[in-house]
Amino acid sequence: MDKKVDVLVLGGSAAGPVAALTARRYNKDASITVVRREKEVLVPCGIPYIFGTLKDVKKNLIPDGLLLNKNIEIIVDEAKAINRDEKTVFLSKGEKIGYKKLILATGSLPATPPIPGINLKNVFVVRKDVAYLGELLNVLEKVKDVVVIGGGFIGVEFADEFIKRGLNVTIVEILPHCLQLAYDEDFCTIAEKKLTERGVKLMTNNKVEEIQGNEKVEKVKLGSGETIKADLVLVGVGVVPNTELAKNAGLKIGEQRGIWVDEYMKTTDEDIFAVGDCAEKFSFFTGKPTALRLASIATREARIAGINVYGLKRKNVGVIGSFSTIIGDLGLGVAGLTEKSAKDLGFNFVVGMAVAPDKHPATMPGCKEMRVKLLFEKNSKTIIGGQVAGGLTTAEVTNILVSMIERKMTAEEVATFQFGSHPALTCSPITYQIVEAAEDALTKL
Ligand SMILES: Cc1cc2nc3c(=O)[nH]c(=O)nc-3n(C[C@H](O)[C@H](O)[C@H](O)COP(=O)(O)OP(=O)(O)OC[C@H]3O[C@@H](n4cnc5c(N)ncnc54)[C@H](O)[C@@H]3O)c2cc1C
Repeated sequence: MDKKVDVLVLGGSAAGPVAALTARRYNKDASITVVRREKEVLVPCGIPYIFGTLKDVKKNLIPDGLLLNKNIEIIVDEAKAINRDEKTVFLSKGEKIGYKKLILATGSLPATPPIPGINLKNVFVVRKDVAYLGELLNVLEKVKDVVVIGGGFIGVEFADEFIKRGLNVTIVEILPHCLQLAYDEDFCTIAEKKLTERGVKLMTNNKVEEIQGNEKVEKVKLGSGETIKADLVLVGVGVVPNTELAKNAGLKIGEQRGIWVDEYMKTTDEDIFAVGDCAEKFSFFTGKPTALRLASIATREARIAGINVYGLKRKNVGVIGSFSTIIGDLGLGVAGLTEKSAKDLGFNFVVGMAVAPDKHPATMPGCKEMRVKLLFEKNSKTIIGGQVAGGLTTAEVTNILVSMIERKMTAEEVATFQFGSHPALTCSPITYQIVEAAEDALTKL
């Protein structure tokens, strides 16, 4: 064995570094090493913004100093195998590292649908790789017509960034609406209106049957029979957990294809934890496996595993699921269950709505309308979900909802919750949307 460390983390993106930093925070003397494949690490959620806002891959990097300043070693190499009996990990360059505790944070890989022509030149997936995305940025300089396959949040964010470059952009989405897996139809419609206003052509209820061209992509053939001119295709149809190492090491894999973990983020091996996109997720509402994979979830799990390597202290209460996005100046956020997912899970619920300006008076510069929709479970009267459409404060308003859901606040508690307000920063306390939406729901409970 070349060396042995107290905590070995495999993966250096969102989850891995946070696990290592948490492990360091609670033990100043432990030897902690992060092994990751890439020399430079991208901010994963920032990837779409490379292409319209940042215009440079190198402006979207996580600095190594975060780890190095805390005396955490970084090894750039690929882990090839885990020997659980020996408690060692083999790296591709031949090194063998022993561990007391191992944290798997090997993330996910882009899903590649089996569409004929997917391997043509100028067809890109969303790979978290500096050189690959640099090539995408180069090719974008030379193209005009772009087709985005998938109208989920990744496809929508890329489409909006491509619009900022003045390109002709079409989103092809198999479902009736863009963002349909995240939001209810009323919010999807608001998003689609904004996308259309910004010049994105939407082809929903439609699928890409074939990507055509000689060597390079030239057009895309749809299920409807139509063909669209395309110089470049961006495929954004989701991710697959990267569990190869864990599988080969005999660790249990869950129903949603992640590495099975218990509430302490421990795998079926006492000394191995798994966090982030590679780990199985369990719903806060049902305890059942869920397919949600987000950086906010990954880093939270990393904070749980990072302390639990020294003894099982932190528990995972399950995934509530929250994320926000932006299209032009329209912010959209979701926390917990939508009407659709609540119905699918058999919840009996009422909906409260409120719309008001996000500053006060509404004549304040930059004021936007903000819409908040809340779902309350009928028996317990507790909040189980919320959606927000507004301006730049949308994400933080959505984060308030996540906390309310986690604390299982009742409609009465939400209607009377204590908050601060300011004319330039928040909605008026008279029409504060979260409170008003809860009051609206109370009249129906
Ligand atoms: C375009 C895009 C936009 C997104 N936007 C958001 C957003 O706004 N909000 C949000 O919450 N989430 C967002 N996400 C999701 C988020 O990026 C992921 O949930 C997050 O990256 C998961 O982090 P992770 O560390 O678990 O995995 P990954 O980011 O996939 O990282 C995996 C790491 O493991 C390493 N690795 C893998 N295998 C090995 C091996 N064998 N040996 C050594 N190292 C290995 C890799 O090199 C990498 O460092 C977005 C995703 C994409 C693609």
